[in-house]
Amino acid sequence: MATRMDGRQLAGEIELRLQATIAERLAAVGRPPGLAVLRVGDDPASGVYVANKEKACARVGITSLGAHLDAGSSATEVLAAVQQLNADTACDGILLQLPLPAGLDEGPLLLAIDPEKDADGLHTLNLGRLLKGEPGPRSCTPAGVMALLARHGVALSGQRAVVVGRSILVGQPMALMLQAADATVSVAHSRTPVLAALTRQADLLVVAAGRPRMIGSEHVKPGAVVIDVGIHRTESGLCGDVRFEEVEPIASAISPVPGGVGPMTVTMLLVNTVVAWCRRAGVAHDL
Ligand code: NDP
Repeated sequence: MATRMDGRQLAGEIELRLQATIAERLAAVGRPPGLAVLRVGDDPASGVYVANKEKACARVGITSLGAHLDAGSSATEVLAAVQQLNADTACDGILLQLPLPAGLDEGPLLLAIDPEKDADGLHTLNLGRLLKGEPGPRSCTPAGVMALLARHGVALSGQRAVVVGRSILVGQPMALMLQAADATVSVAHSRTPVLAALTRQADLLVVAAGRPRMIGSEHVKPGAVVIDVGIHRTESGLCGDVRFEEVEPIASAISPVPGGVGPMTVTMLLVNTVVAWCRRAGVAHDL
């Protein structure tokens, strides 16, 4: 039976470390770290995500500088809010909560965020830094997966990894991070023929396809490590992209949904904010 990779527990431990780091460096910096979650409109799911992020900030000692614009805001108004946060000396991290209301193009707004305050690690400059192996804020979900793998001592060098999904949010940066850790990486997507033939070669299988329970035992090599990034709300509760009950008996380790990658994503947002806070103040930013 596979080891369950408990993201909640690791996220809790990282939060304690962040709390201690903030307390220790507060006097040197002179103010607490600040994270601004910029929300536009009233998407109910976004409301829950924003509230969770604000609670997580409060737990570790990060000040929430949230701004909430109404659904009818123009691109110019949202841009002005981003620019105000860029200039705000108390703000170390900015996150534009997606999706935006119809009619607002997220591209130019994400690009307008100061790359040094890019808490999500999704700014084009920071994706370029990841590609080149340069330091910078990393995309939260794949960074959370890397932390979970490290915590469970999963060796990556020389291993065969398959990432299902090629989004800019998850699949692409995940593949780059695994490659940087010397795994041999293949990326599958909706046009990949005979998916199972590829995924069955994987020592590490990361699934971020956004298709409820699409991966079953026929996709998994016995003994593989399986990370389920997917998250779906169904009538019978939350589920991932993996049929957990089928895959758990044959994998060596597996991340559950909920309680696997999800909590790690929020925690990496806090990590990016605290690192930016230290960097901006010129104090040590090792965590
Ligand atoms: P996207 O919809 O942007 O991307 C999905 C990717 O999966 C695409 O590249 C798509 O291929 C590929 N795909 C879709 N269907 C198949 C298929 N049948 N076979 C192979 N590949 C397929 O999703 P995201 O990357 O944003 O998110 C993926 C999942 O992760 C979602 O469930 C999302 O909710 C979840 N998520 C969870 C987070 C967490 O914290 N736990 C954070 C972020 C996302 P193509 O490019 O060809 O269309």
